[in-house]
Amino acid sequence: MTEFKPATKALWSGEKEQLSYGATQVPVVHSVSFGYDDMDEWNAIATGKQEGHVYGRNTNPTTQAFEDKVKDLEGAEAATAFATGMAAISGTLNAFVRPGDRVVTVKDTYGGTNKIFTEFLPNTGVEVVFCETGDHEEMEREIAKGCKLVYLESPTNPTLKLIDIERMAKAGHDVGALVVIDGTFASPVNQNPLDFGVDIVLHSATKYLGGHSDALGGIVCGPHHLIDQVYHYREINGATLNPQAAYFLLRGMKTLHLRLERQNQNAMQVAKYLQSVEWVEDVFYPGLESHTGHDIAKKQMKGFGGMLSFSVKGGLDTVYQLLPHLKLAKRAASLGCVQTIVGPPALTSHVECTPEERAAMGIPEGLIRYSAGIEDIDDLIQDLEQAFAKLPKEALSK
Ligand code: PLP
Repeated sequence: MTEFKPATKALWSGEKEQLSYGATQVPVVHSVSFGYDDMDEWNAIATGKQEGHVYGRNTNPTTQAFEDKVKDLEGAEAATAFATGMAAISGTLNAFVRPGDRVVTVKDTYGGTNKIFTEFLPNTGVEVVFCETGDHEEMEREIAKGCKLVYLESPTNPTLKLIDIERMAKAGHDVGALVVIDGTFASPVNQNPLDFGVDIVLHSATKYLGGHSDALGGIVCGPHHLIDQVYHYREINGATLNPQAAYFLLRGMKTLHLRLERQNQNAMQVAKYLQSVEWVEDVFYPGLESHTGHDIAKKQMKGFGGMLSFSVKGGLDTVYQLLPHLKLAKRAASLGCVQTIVGPPALTSHVECTPEERAAMGIPEGLIRYSAGIEDIDDLIQDLEQAFAKLPKEALSK
């Protein structure tokens, strides 16, 4: 569906092939196995010579519609879906990295990803090098020493740091490394990393792709020869996306562009408002000119995203006092939902990390992550105003 614009692809891509009986929406195919009367046809499908489904751990029509939709939006040749974003990340790493390999990444990846790098990969004899996020010279130096894989995330969770994707893709390819990026925070509406030279872009579909916090999923997009390897790892190891979840993700994606358009606007307005609040120390949003990665964001993002974070005076005490006063924000983990979600990284994205690990990643204790929903912006700002107004003024001078 390359002839259509992204918003149209989000609606139509991947669906037609899966419709039958005159249905206008993709069915949820629960069947685990797919049978064939014709032995030659069965043989052709089972051995990959002909398109079709054999067993639900491998492929499924509902899941395939979801894969095709994201693939088209990312401008990729192929995509394969996983049960969760973390399964997509670990599946991708396990598909390519072997004992003795060296992986170069950044300090500020999502907490679960960071755990793979600090805990699980080193256990299998993989060396992981952590660079200061946004220090491109340090990353280039480490990559130039040689590595199997460069793993990026941009914007990062939760401090919204930016990595120059094109520059890092080049550095990786100069030494023959595979370059992988987690694009969850931006979504394919705001950023298409394959256009900037990375080999693989992956997403936690649980976030913006689904958009309603009602389905877990992950997706990995790239060229056929790489996605085939990721698919093979997944079909054998079994972290398959459930067809019911695939349906929810497919349905959510039909409004992806509308949602993101509003979420981009809301996040920008909230970020600007927060800059004027006396309780707020720092606002991290790539759309602000004051943001250290603003120029990079302008180069590689079509929109600045619905995610921001801000640190408050008085640290964690203020966070604990402020958040319960908010009426229009779910105090919860996750992000990218139609409703606004807030939470401190210590209880959400980086709950798996120790306070020391969070400090090393530059995550202040008084940080609040804010996932802008699609509510009316006036209501969101008023809600923040009334919540800040309830804080005890004397704490400001502490
Ligand atoms: N990547 C990022 C940037 C995330 O924020 C998350 C979850 O918050 C994940 C990956 C993991 O996704 P999932 O929760 O679907 O496993």
